[in-house]
Amino acid sequence: DKLSAYHPLTEQEAIEFSRSIPEFFPAGAVLTSREIGDGNLNLVFHITDAASGKGLIVKQALPYAKVVGESWPLTLDRARIESEALILQNELAPGLVPTVYKYDAELALTVMEDLSDHVIMRQGLVDGNKYPKFAEDISTFMANTLFFTSDLGMNQQDKKERVKAFINPDLCKITEDLIFDDPYTDSPNNNFEAAIADAAEALRNDDALHLEVAILRNKFLTNAQALLHGDLHTGSVFVTAQSTKVIDPEFAYYGPIGFDVGAVIANLLLNYAGQAHWIKDEAELADFRSYLLGSVREIWTKFENKFGALWDEHNADRLASSASGYKQYYINKLLQDSIGFAGCKMVRRIVGLAHVADIDRIEDAAEREKAQRLALEIGTSLIHLNRQAISIEQAIDIVLSAT
Ligand code: ADP
Ligand code: MG
Ligand code: MG
Ligand code: MG
Repeated sequence: DKLSAYHPLTEQEAIEFSRSIPEFFPAGAVLTSREIGDGNLNLVFHITDAASGKGLIVKQALPYAKVVGESWPLTLDRARIESEALILQNELAPGLVPTVYKYDAELALTVMEDLSDHVIMRQGLVDGNKYPKFAEDISTFMANTLFFTSDLGMNQQDKKERVKAFINPDLCKITEDLIFDDPYTDSPNNNFEAAIADAAEALRNDDALHLEVAILRNKFLTNAQALLHGDLHTGSVFVTAQSTKVIDPEFAYYGPIGFDVGAVIANLLLNYAGQAHWIKDEAELADFRSYLLGSVREIWTKFENKFGALWDEHNADRLASSASGYKQYYINKLLQDSIGFAGCKMVRRIVGLAHVADIDRIEDAAEREKAQRLALEIGTSLIHLNRQAISIEQAIDIVLSAT
């Protein structure tokens, strides 16, 4: 029928499709459909039944990305990658991602649990809210999904098959260009304000920084350590005070573990950099910033402990589990990578193509510039530190001395 061949769905067609989920909506339910995505890469339809109060999300991939007025072709296969990653993550970290009800390969769409009772964490943090369960939940999500998809936590031949299933070249190229290249060159993709042109130029002229970014970029290109979420910023996390749900793993691929951990840390620190604008009262600002830094510390510490506990209990690799000093070596490398990738992710959000609302929505130009410079200083310092790091406290000290 006309629904089955690929085309971007209308709101009405999304309703028709959602009726195919067995026993979800009552027969004859009057359904409403609204497209709520930002429309750059994907369509996101919210289907609701006012009578039963039930809802579904239908997310459909578009075959292109709208970027700086141009259209970049982007494989629809990422819808498969997203739905398969969500299903696997729900097995490894139960309850921390939306349930997938259906995936349709031809239409490149996933029907999933409606999380409209949650808020996107980036917005929640801009609004000054604290999330007491977040550090616990995100550290569990990362430790479980990353350990059990790595060569430490699964059969190493099965892992190679899984690497193949998650080859994701189009989405990886976005990361390789926008995070690990453009900000350090004179690229037309860059997007920074004239007020910080000197700081952007400094990024292009810092040889020591380029060496560190080249090393981190190579890890992203080659280190098939674990199945990453791949886009784990605070816009990919739905939260309430009691609940955490990670969404949007369309960038999932086998890469370096620190890339996911670093994404979480970077986005908390980007919020930190913007908060001087969002919270005017000095004592409240200090309290919220110390909450954010405490979260960074807690997320790393809990992740390290949980990953270490899985290592002790489930390590399938004979030498990795018996060679003395190896666990400490491995986890220290994860810390170093996390700090380095966090720095790269902060820098790209200031001078690169895609920015964050925590800073971009600051209306006062002078305040926005201050936040941008602070984020750049923290980001570049983290990158310079990364291979020397032995403790998360060094990253926290960088933030405190830059503030
Ligand atoms: P994209 O890959 O295009 O960024 P996302 O998966 O991040 O798409 O979804 C875009 C927006 O759609 C989210 O910010 C959120 O507002 C909404 N959304 C996505 N998934 C859900 C869901 N499961 N429940 C409720 N809203 C959702
Ligand atoms: Mg989006
Ligand atoms: Mg996405
Ligand atoms: Mg998204």
